[in-house]
Amino acid sequence: MDGMTTNDLSHVVDADRAHVWHHLSQHTQYMNEDLSAQVDPRIIVEGKGMRVWDQHGKEHIDAVSGGVWTVNVGYGRESIANAVRDQILKMNFFGGTVGSIPGALFAEKLISKMPGMTRVYYANSGSEANEKGFKIVRQIAHKRYGGKKHKILYRDRDYHGSTIASMSAGGQDERNAQYGPFTPGFVRVPHCMEYRKHEQAGAPDENYGVWAANQIEEVILREGADTVGALCLEPVTAGGGVITPPEGYWERVQEICKKYDILLHIDEVVCGVGRTGAWFGYQNYGIKPDIVTMAKGVASGYAAISCCVTTEAVFDMFKDDSSDPLNYFRDISTFGGCTAGPAAALENMKIIENEDLLANTLVMGDRMVANLQALAEKFPQIGDVRGKGLFVGAELVTDRTTKEPMPENLVGAVVADCNKNGVIIGATNRSVPGKNNTLCFSPALIATADDIDEITDAVSAALGRVFA
Ligand code: PMP
Repeated sequence: MDGMTTNDLSHVVDADRAHVWHHLSQHTQYMNEDLSAQVDPRIIVEGKGMRVWDQHGKEHIDAVSGGVWTVNVGYGRESIANAVRDQILKMNFFGGTVGSIPGALFAEKLISKMPGMTRVYYANSGSEANEKGFKIVRQIAHKRYGGKKHKILYRDRDYHGSTIASMSAGGQDERNAQYGPFTPGFVRVPHCMEYRKHEQAGAPDENYGVWAANQIEEVILREGADTVGALCLEPVTAGGGVITPPEGYWERVQEICKKYDILLHIDEVVCGVGRTGAWFGYQNYGIKPDIVTMAKGVASGYAAISCCVTTEAVFDMFKDDSSDPLNYFRDISTFGGCTAGPAAALENMKIIENEDLLANTLVMGDRMVANLQALAEKFPQIGDVRGKGLFVGAELVTDRTTKEPMPENLVGAVVADCNKNGVIIGATNRSVPGKNNTLCFSPALIATADDIDEITDAVSAALGRVFA
């Protein structure tokens, strides 16, 4: 591995244990004074295609694209490395008001995949891109509506980021605990999940999608439509439990936004750039958004880049206006001036096109769903299988009738068993907070039939062992 010796790597592990503060991690497991109970932090050393190798040289197939739905084109892409290398040697950074060659060319390419959208604003993370969207909405409210139409609606179970304002739009209370107070002006609307509609008072058997969208209208009417500037939604809810929308939902959401002059902000941080088998998740549902944000798959993690994309109508509201000298988007992101991001993103998009990865995503996504449905015949613990493209979840329950969520430790045991056997999968939340009972799968868009079968075979073996 990379010319590093076992010795070098044990130093790396020690350095990591001593000094790195890992995301989402309880560190006592790495620091237990009882050495027999101490766990080493996992270091991923190398990757190629769908596979990664850890500090012990152990090979894993990565069914979660870098853990968090990111490495859409797989690891070890030389053409992206070359594009970034060439670009940063020529011009790595110039921030503020100026543009760059890859910035312009990637924006042109991106817009060619997003009919109806015209403007790309660069930032670095999903949270940041969402905050740009929120600021655009707020500024429009000030400019056009005397500050009144400033509220931003977000949905229960959706997630939009880790900064305080993006957490203020966070529908997963368990993630927000202990970080308040939050930013005012964010208002929650009910979630929409066919599988668990029985938990929502009044949810009908038929036409649930339209009913769920109408719940949003009720919130708008309660708040006053003249106070609501935008509705921010994930096209398929990711961390909240891989929640796919029911029929009729999006059509009605779009109608409601139009009726009350509310901007529709679609958070494509996970779904964007191929994950669902379309360039963007919203394109599966015929939605016409006003603002679209994206991050993870934009450059597949080869560089940090996120984008907030708008229609020309939104952009137009920030044009020169002598009555308002403050009427331009007074926002900056220092590293929005890094050229590595758009250089990597442009090459990433070319790879998806040249290798026809959207088509592959649809075929392999169907295979993964079919494999998991076949497992559900064998394992009553699988209550629901849902997905769009290579974005798939399998919700575990203790009882199919009551849909009681599987306790987290047992779900964790399935994940750990797969991990131990060289298949990295994840688990995420369901519609009731704090229960990570949905196994989640988001392999790179290059996955082959053999890869998919290897992943679901490991899940089958793990379920067999855990629920024997
Ligand atoms: N939106 C969604 C839907 C996400 O899943 C995430 C990250 N998991 C974010 C926004 C925030 O992105 P980041 O972590 O890059 O800030």
